[in-house]
Amino acid sequence: MTGLSFARTKDGGSLRVWLLSLVMVPIVGIGAAAALEITSHISTVRSDQKVERIVQATVDINRVRADLQLEMLPALTGSLVANPQLRTALGLTPTQTQQLAATIAQVPKLRKSTDAALSTLAARTDLDSLGTRTQAQVKQLRATIDSGTYPHTAFEAGIEVLDTLSAAQNDQTAAAIRIGLDPASNRALIDLAMVTRAVQFAGEQTPFFVGAQFPGVVSPEATAQTLWVQAWGSYQAWSSAILEQTSASTRAVWSKAINSLVVKSVDDIWDQTTGKPTFVGTLPTLKVVLSDAQRNSALSGAQDYSVALVLDSARAQQTAATRALAIIVGLCLLVIAASLAAARWAQRALTKPLERLARQATEVSQGELIDVAISGPHEVRTVARGLSESVNSLRTIQAQAAAVAAGDLDSRVVATPVPGALGAVVHASVSRIVGAIRDRESAQNALAHRAAHDPLTELPNRGEALALIEGALHRAQRSGTQTALMFVDLDHFKAVNDKLGHAAGDAVLQTMSRRMKALMRAGDTVARLGGDEFVILLESVTDEGGCYRLAERIVAAAAEPIPVGQREARIGASVGVAICRDGNVDASRLLLEADAAVYRAKSSGRGQIAVFDEDLRSELADRIGLEQALVNALQRDEFVLHYQPLVDLNNASIIGVEALIRWNRPGVGLVGPDTFIPTAEGSALIDDIGQWVLEAATAQLAEWSSANPALNELTMSVNISGRHLCSAQLPEEVAHVLATSGVAARRLIIEITETVLVDSPIAKHNMKRLQELGVLIALDDFGTGHTSIGQLPSLPVDILKIDRSFVASDEPGNQDLLHLMVAAAHAFDLTVVAEGIEYEHQAHSLRGAQVETGQGFLFARPCSPSEVMEYLSSNPPRPGIGARTHSPRHAARPLQTFPATVVGDVSSLDSAGSGRHGHSAKTS
Ligand code: C2E
Ligand code: CA
Ligand code: CA
Repeated sequence: MTGLSFARTKDGGSLRVWLLSLVMVPIVGIGAAAALEITSHISTVRSDQKVERIVQATVDINRVRADLQLEMLPALTGSLVANPQLRTALGLTPTQTQQLAATIAQVPKLRKSTDAALSTLAARTDLDSLGTRTQAQVKQLRATIDSGTYPHTAFEAGIEVLDTLSAAQNDQTAAAIRIGLDPASNRALIDLAMVTRAVQFAGEQTPFFVGAQFPGVVSPEATAQTLWVQAWGSYQAWSSAILEQTSASTRAVWSKAINSLVVKSVDDIWDQTTGKPTFVGTLPTLKVVLSDAQRNSALSGAQDYSVALVLDSARAQQTAATRALAIIVGLCLLVIAASLAAARWAQRALTKPLERLARQATEVSQGELIDVAISGPHEVRTVARGLSESVNSLRTIQAQAAAVAAGDLDSRVVATPVPGALGAVVHASVSRIVGAIRDRESAQNALAHRAAHDPLTELPNRGEALALIEGALHRAQRSGTQTALMFVDLDHFKAVNDKLGHAAGDAVLQTMSRRMKALMRAGDTVARLGGDEFVILLESVTDEGGCYRLAERIVAAAAEPIPVGQREARIGASVGVAICRDGNVDASRLLLEADAAVYRAKSSGRGQIAVFDEDLRSELADRIGLEQALVNALQRDEFVLHYQPLVDLNNASIIGVEALIRWNRPGVGLVGPDTFIPTAEGSALIDDIGQWVLEAATAQLAEWSSANPALNELTMSVNISGRHLCSAQLPEEVAHVLATSGVAARRLIIEITETVLVDSPIAKHNMKRLQELGVLIALDDFGTGHTSIGQLPSLPVDILKIDRSFVASDEPGNQDLLHLMVAAAHAFDLTVVAEGIEYEHQAHSLRGAQVETGQGFLFARPCSPSEVMEYLSSNPPRPGIGARTHSPRHAARPLQTFPATVVGDVSSLDSAGSGRHGHSAKTS
């Protein structure tokens, strides 16, 4: 699963890392700048420390130098005093000599001080062992002085040591200046350097002066004198330079020092005497020597002040630098901490909403339609708002899909547009789906309507009617109300079809359905069962009389002429009413009751109304009982076939047989077809019976043929009921029995009654198909129905069976009609069979009327198969009717003479009992 993640992505680091690096850039910058600053400050501090050390070193060197001067002068002076020559030369009084000698007593004490200063100097590691070197020199110097040899040797050695120390002192000061401190410190350093020089030169004056006192002894006498003069000059020069160039405070301190009493009194003497030989050996000279230590110490005080100034300045600088360093470091830390805090805050403020958004986006991408929180920085809010809107769109789409899935197409959400291009596509898709579903629904509705309605009248059809009746009965059962069902059967409708055509028939049906609907109350239903049969369903019937009156109005409405084009159709209606009082029957039963009622209405004359009553109920019960018994009879094989021969009227030879069904009903005996065939014809039972007859009859014919080859041309006539003829399966059934029995198709004759042909295209279609199989079709009971002779050529018929009523009738009119029918049949190339011939005179007149084939008790009654065999043995067969099928209808039919043979027992339907067919029993 590839979800959105801000923690790590393929093409970029974490946002936190980015933010941190962003913050680190200034931090590093600040750090670098601070480091530079810190380094500079540290170096400042270091320089200050160094300067302090150097200055301290000059102080230490100065102490040694000053102490050494103090120590040297009494020693030198002492050696001077010890020399009587010099004493004289100097003109020292004994008191003065004593004074000078007293200073020598101080030497051990002064040496101790010098040693202390020297050991401090020797302890320093930064002066290239100046201290130890000086210690050695000083030891040497003291030895020279103590030996009391040549004062000038000691003087020179002393001057050398002092020079070394002064040089070291000046080097240190110069080194300090070279380090380069801040201007104030530098100023102080330069001041110090100048003061040091002045002090050094001041210190050199007395030793140089004393040195200059050894004329003749000291060979480079002039040099000591020169040095003495130079030292004084240098002192004055440095002193005036100090007063001109140093800082105010240094200047003030220096000025105070040189104007102090001790310095001024000595300086005045030097000022007046320096370089003047006369001065030697004078009092002031002595004073100078005696006051030199105080003068030096006074000037050294000024030098100490300068040192203190330098140290103060350096220390102040150092402290300032340290403080600045602390401030910079602190500031840096503060800035870094602030930056990190700001980064943390920014990260929280930025990444928190972003991470939440990323999490929500992941959830959305996984199909979770969550509530997207809109918060955080502006840009994040914008993205969140976009995501939220997407989620809303997805929700709408989801709701639309759910509504479509639930079939809630009228829901407002389905019409809600979703924004954007995707929204447009989805909206278009949803609209198309909804449209397609609506189209399909309306198509389904149309189909359902078509399946449930009669296309001609737009009334509910039979199936729908049954469903509506069923619903009404359920409601009635719950409410305890009555339901009425009227069965309306139009009278003379067939005549309209025959005379005015089918379009007229359709118009009549439409007009009648309109008229009936006009008579209905709201909630009542008219339905067309088929043909000219309608039903009217009335719910919550309170008044049975009202029901009857409605039936009367329908009869009256049907009696009104119906305009059909330029003409008028006249029909009528018979109505059967069945009332269910408690809803406690099923729809088909109620329909059956109404049907039974209308059947009664029709049989009691047309335009009548009959109500289903107790008589009808028991009749119906009988019929239903009989139907059940017939079902059982089929299963238990209780049916038998009897066969009645068809004979050639001219010679009485048998040409075929007609299969006639009987029911060997247990406990009753042999029952004739008239008692059960009409009932069987009321349902599909007749199809099963017809099939059984076809199978049994063809099997019998095959058996006879195989038993007696002479019977190979014998035909078998089978009666097929009108309903069965209309069954789509009939041709296949017939083909099947022919194939099963092996009987040639031309030997099978299917007898159909003329009434069946009324308006049944399927019947005619099946007849044609049977003819195509090679089977012959006989029109039974001809003359009793509506078929006119003129219709014969259009009918798929081969044989005409003239009804028994014409044979039996003696009326001249009927005889004429019989002649006419025969002539017409022959004209249309049909074979004529006369039925019910009982007497010879009948046979005779039929022969006269050119009827070629006859059937009747005169020749033989319907009899059992074995009786047929018996009959056949005495009446050999001739080629049957089927033989003619090979020749066209107009083949010549020779008249044959009829042997006066009478067969069978007229009094009994069944020949089974009187099976003996006494051929000679009766004669006409
Ligand atoms: P149908 O097809 O007209 O059959 C001839 C009827 O006339 C037979 O009555 C027969 O016994 C009777 N009959 C024959 N010769 C004479 C005669 O000389 N005088 C008199 N009075 N009657 C004669 P049956 O067997 O009772 O059959 C009655 C009707 O039942 C038949 O009339 C036929 O329509 C029907 N039927 C018989 N068998 C079947 C069958 O297997 N299937 C169907 N669908 N109908 C059958
Ligand atoms: Ca028949
Ligand atoms: Ca008949």
